[in-house]
Amino acid sequence: MKRLPLLALVAASTAFATPSGTTVILNGTAIDPGTGKAMPNAAITIEGDHLTAVKENNTDIPKKGDVVIDARGKFILPGYIDTHVHFFQSGGLFTRPDAVDLTSVRSYKDEIAMIKRNLPDTFARYLRSGITSVLDIGGPLWNFEMRRIASSTAKAPRVAAAGPLISSVSRPQLDLGDPPIVKIDTPEQGREMVRKLAAQEPDYIKIWYIVPPAQSPSPGASPAAGQSDVERAAIFRPVVHAVVDESHRLKLRVAVHATELEAARASVEEGADLLVHSVTDKPVDEAFVKLLKEKGTILTPTLVVFERYGRTFANKLELTPEEKAWGNPEVIATLDVTKIPADKQPERLKKAMENPQPVLDSIQKTYDVALKNLKTLEDAGVTIATGTDAGNIGTIHGPAIFREFQLMKQAELSPMQILQCTTANAAKTFGGDTGAKIGSLKPGNYADLVILKSNPLDDIKNTSDIDSVMKNGVVYPADTLLRK
Ligand SMILES: [Zn+2]
Repeated sequence: MKRLPLLALVAASTAFATPSGTTVILNGTAIDPGTGKAMPNAAITIEGDHLTAVKENNTDIPKKGDVVIDARGKFILPGYIDTHVHFFQSGGLFTRPDAVDLTSVRSYKDEIAMIKRNLPDTFARYLRSGITSVLDIGGPLWNFEMRRIASSTAKAPRVAAAGPLISSVSRPQLDLGDPPIVKIDTPEQGREMVRKLAAQEPDYIKIWYIVPPAQSPSPGASPAAGQSDVERAAIFRPVVHAVVDESHRLKLRVAVHATELEAARASVEEGADLLVHSVTDKPVDEAFVKLLKEKGTILTPTLVVFERYGRTFANKLELTPEEKAWGNPEVIATLDVTKIPADKQPERLKKAMENPQPVLDSIQKTYDVALKNLKTLEDAGVTIATGTDAGNIGTIHGPAIFREFQLMKQAELSPMQILQCTTANAAKTFGGDTGAKIGSLKPGNYADLVILKSNPLDDIKNTSDIDSVMKNGVVYPADTLLRK
């Protein structure tokens, strides 16, 4: 009887039912990218919400009373993990008024209201795409409420979250009273912000390290005109130093947005745990590669997002079949820029629509650097974690990951390497108890699985040939996940 209060506590902390009894997935091929192994004719045993065994099929299994899932001809993997998303952004055209101001068409307040209303739907689209865990790497303080909602929603991925971005630049267009981006001017302000965020138990502290341009695009010189890359990166570095120091003192990890080589280098030198984008301005050098390896810094390439703003504005968006099928149709409908009346088109949009070629050229230029950098880092053994930056304009929550896979393939990563980045490596960005129980087929892990109808090791495109998804031990046939 003494054990009752504990049981009651466990029941109360579980907002949705975990299945009781034993489920066995039989006859399929189990692929565990972290170990690089594929086991044909596997027997995967699940009890409640976790895996208990992954073995070669034998006659002991199943036992009487077990629920059996026959996976003959199918492929079972740990659920995918997207380590760079933003739930405060819809992926639609009105979600970043700081990039293109279309608030005269839809107010930012209405946009945010829609995003909050759609949250359960957005969560389900991740599961439909085989994604069972995501890292939201920055948003308003309500991100922590979002994380709580996800953890009490059955058809949702596991969510880790950062709060507002500690930034070198301000974005007043996004401030409705709970801003996602906060400009910090001094190291002491930075430390104060970290202490304030610590109360929310964030999974990361996020820094937005935007380096001022060397050349001002318009007449009137940039304050950093004529300075070297290192000098321009040095301007915000004292804040980065203070934020990393204070975060680590409080046992919090730090993620940094730094797409220029010198800012990325400075971030890693200061102790950043995670770089959330590729370096896109120049090839990474040997010293940078060595530094990442020595420090154990993880890097998320986010290739898909680099093409999506430009392609959307230029009316050249080419969504994948997966995005068209599993993305939110309401969001996708907003991405048709031809629907914006001419008198309401901001300059950036008008220019891109009239003359798309320079936009496409600039995307290609970014990929020429970023894809090569990814290959260099992967070959050198740097830990790469897959991520999309979903939620940004044109980057669709959930299925954007399949475009990311195509681009990783273009960078000449093998299917097994891509899957490793998406499971075992991505789990490392989670850290803690959850990070230790996702991303592989180890007994004791959460039973978060994706079951495919064709072999992803033959072609990475088969990763979207999804038969069913298991989250927390509950199996969902893929085509039921988006049914209302
Ligand atoms: Zn981002």
